[in-house]
Amino acid sequence: MSENLKAQQVSLEASSPFELRVNLGRDVPESDVRTALVTGDMGFVHSFTTGSAVDGPGVRVVAWLTGCQFRCLYCHNPDTWNMTNGVPVTLERAKAQLAKYRHGLKVMKGGLTVSGGEPLMQDRFVVKLFTAAKAIGIHTALDTNGFLGCRLSDEELEKIDLVLLDLKTWDQERHHRLTGMNVNLVLNFARRLALLRKPVWLRYVLVPELTDDVGDIDRIASFSAGLGNVERVDVLPFHQMGAFKWKQLGIGYKLQNAEPPSKEIVDRVCAQFREAGLRVY
Ligand code: SF4
Repeated sequence: MSENLKAQQVSLEASSPFELRVNLGRDVPESDVRTALVTGDMGFVHSFTTGSAVDGPGVRVVAWLTGCQFRCLYCHNPDTWNMTNGVPVTLERAKAQLAKYRHGLKVMKGGLTVSGGEPLMQDRFVVKLFTAAKAIGIHTALDTNGFLGCRLSDEELEKIDLVLLDLKTWDQERHHRLTGMNVNLVLNFARRLALLRKPVWLRYVLVPELTDDVGDIDRIASFSAGLGNVERVDVLPFHQMGAFKWKQLGIGYKLQNAEPPSKEIVDRVCAQFREAGLRVY
């Protein structure tokens, strides 16, 4: 199993995850994709970006993996849904890429964040990448929707210093309408992380009329505060920066007329989390 020539020629670095990338792993035989998923010796990567100050402590390198089982109505990166849109990257190439950033990350007290897509669609690759990062002293963070958290053993979770948990909404029916999937496994993963005392930053994308329900947010806030391991909440106002991707991919986008939340709504939601005793950014 190896990268094909085309993959070797594609730069792993992008200026931002908003670069549209498609079909870069399309030529990988299906049997190789299956082997990659079992062994983790090859991953499918949208890109590596550098310089993020919002995806974990310090300055981060973010590996954006492809593949996601959710279909969030507000997704900013629908080109990451399909795993073979990503560049096939051997673990060795990914480790070499990581080694390039090692010194800078130490100086800037940052680390590696693995995001997506949903990284745990490629759980074996993620575990191997985090193991490699820890071996060279790099802080690790996993940005996940939590649905596949059960794929990681407690021992594997020890390779992860911080989990950025994207909680989409509380209400089961609303969660299903928003993402296409149920919320129960996400909440179970959150409870398990709490039992393990794993530091969590909660991420909450705020979309007017979709995720701004007062009662829903109160439930999320009291649930999160009760866990005892949520260090902060990032309220992320919806924006339209990914809208062009839906158009170019030819996927029906239901939020083309949706506006970012007003300052009043953002302030109200932040206040709800604060009132529950959480730190909010
Ligand atoms: S979980 Fe993330 S990548 Fe997946 S559809 Fe939702 S927003 Fe997009």
